[in-house]
Amino acid sequence: MNLRYPKNVHFECQRCAQCCGDSSHRGRNILLLESEVRQISNTTGLRPLSFASRSLSIQPYRYRMKKRNGKCVFLDGKACRIYNIRPLICRFYPFSLKRGDNGYRFEVSEECPGIGLGKALVPGEFERMLEEAHSKLKID
Ligand code: SF4
Ligand code: SF4
Repeated sequence: MNLRYPKNVHFECQRCAQCCGDSSHRGRNILLLESEVRQISNTTGLRPLSFASRSLSIQPYRYRMKKRNGKCVFLDGKACRIYNIRPLICRFYPFSLKRGDNGYRFEVSEECPGIGLGKALVPGEFERMLEEAHSKLKID
């Protein structure tokens, strides 16, 4: 399968938590797979609809994370309370995976303050992310 990704992009997360909520000019849509909602619910003991709303408009995602004051309900200061089981969309940020007629492509969000810092991402990292997405989608 053909995979395209941004070349020579440097990234180092600054742990600013900007990607965990809305910015002054843009809403953040934190989409969730059904399997992710189940996993978060099983781990936290919370009912799915207490932290997620149904959203059928963007396949394969079936839910979106609820926000409080524009921030993800699991954000605590600048820390994620479900870090080890955070959804794929959070794991991949500032990259997002799109599917087109000719395969897959990763896009990068230039809004992330970590872009341009740290080491350049090697092609293997995008391939690993694609594999991670495939394995998640298989169980969904
Ligand atoms: S991924 Fe980017 S926006 Fe999110 S915490 Fe890291 S530096 Fe901030
Ligand atoms: S699940 Fe965690 S990483 Fe994802 S938006 Fe919420 S607080 Fe941020």
